[in-house]
Amino acid sequence: MSFSDSYPHGHNAIAVTSASPSNEPFNVLIVGGGVAALEAALALRDLGGTRIRTTMLARGPEFVYRPMTVREPFDYALAQRHPLERIARDIGVELRIDSFKWLEAETRVVHTEAGEQLSYDALLLALGARMHPRFKHVLTIDDKRIDQLLHGLIQDVEGGYVHSLAFIVPGRMGWPLPIYELALMTAARAYDMNVELSITIATPEDAPLAIFGAGASDAVRQLLEEQGISTIASAYCEVPGPGCVAINPGSRELHVDRIVAMPELHGPSVPGVPLGSPGGFIPVDARCKVAGVERVYAAGDATDFAIKHGGIAAQQADVAAQAIAALAGLAGEPEPFRPDIHGILLTGGKPLYLSAHVTGGHGSSSEITEAPTWSPATKIAAKYLAPYLEARERAASSG
Ligand SMILES: Cc1cc2nc3c(=O)[nH]c(=O)nc-3n(C[C@H](O)[C@H](O)[C@H](O)COP(=O)(O)OP(=O)(O)OC[C@H]3O[C@@H](n4cnc5c(N)ncnc54)[C@H](O)[C@@H]3O)c2cc1C
Repeated sequence: MSFSDSYPHGHNAIAVTSASPSNEPFNVLIVGGGVAALEAALALRDLGGTRIRTTMLARGPEFVYRPMTVREPFDYALAQRHPLERIARDIGVELRIDSFKWLEAETRVVHTEAGEQLSYDALLLALGARMHPRFKHVLTIDDKRIDQLLHGLIQDVEGGYVHSLAFIVPGRMGWPLPIYELALMTAARAYDMNVELSITIATPEDAPLAIFGAGASDAVRQLLEEQGISTIASAYCEVPGPGCVAINPGSRELHVDRIVAMPELHGPSVPGVPLGSPGGFIPVDARCKVAGVERVYAAGDATDFAIKHGGIAAQQADVAAQAIAALAGLAGEPEPFRPDIHGILLTGGKPLYLSAHVTGGHGSSSEITEAPTWSPATKIAAKYLAPYLEARERAASSG
């Protein structure tokens, strides 16, 4: 029996026959092949079954499990990569490998780089964010080639050639976890190799991982201190020259052997798609509908929601999918988006599990534990995608 036979198709599908007068399936186009796109495709199948026909337009042929790329420079296994074609086959989605070029919202047509015109009844934009290096004289993280970028640095740490390191976060919205994970794993590796290394993290956050709330943030601050990592919060950095970090406000300078920086994130800026906040992110309302265009929704890092995190992308995708199913007459209106954030912090030792409900950009009911409090306990907490990937990996390992 193949995986697609064993993975249930549309198990909760609502049997509704009045979605459109012609009884034609409702035509949904999803742009993207990442967390938000796949979560939405799975949710739509659950909500609409065969009453919804989903096409996915993705630039690349693979889904990469981005959170696990932080382990690659430390000689751990490569992050999981899944061919989109296989996933599309499993879940009954038509896949187009091509790039979204521009949107003609009045006629409900998406134009692609290859010159195709794809029409839709509803469109979901799940294009992710674009990464830009913000500083010169630093190693800027790019998860597509993180091993190539950082492997040499980790070897230099192991060999005792690097004595001080700064990990810095530019001012714009970014992914919360990886800079802490890289700092903690580097500190652990230096300790294992019996090498003296001073590490500083400079971040614009009010406190380390502040979005996970005061309780979790305090525990992370304590862990960083125990590992000998200094943290400078509310810091807006510049890098005037090699090895020099200028910290604003104030006139403090750090002098270190090497600097590692997160990239600055920008929205997708596609012609025809409204732009919201500075940075070109797509403005969405609480039901993930894009302001100013009909039948267009957006989810994930591409949107103007301030927290860029896979679990948040998945929750937005679930809300958008339900709004689309409601538009098709196949589900009730979704509840407004009320984010909960879950994160597994890799530390170089035992991982830590962080959870919070997010209000006003900060976590409340903050929790940090040594055992998972959500299931499946995966780095990207996603209602449909996490169990799907878990089942796929179980099937792959059982042959
Ligand atoms: C190193 C690292 C560690 C992280 N750790 C965690 C973690 O521990 N937990 C967590 O929850 N999150 C984590 N994140 C964040 C998480 O990976 C992102 O928030 C998540 O991937 C966002 O999903 P998305 O679908 O919005 O965008 P993406 O995953 O970026 O997917 C965007 C998709 O759109 C496609 N695309 C882009 N432009 C076009 C175009 N013009 N036409 C067609 N397709 C296009 C891309 O090819 C891609 O398939 C981490 C991120 C990084 C980089």
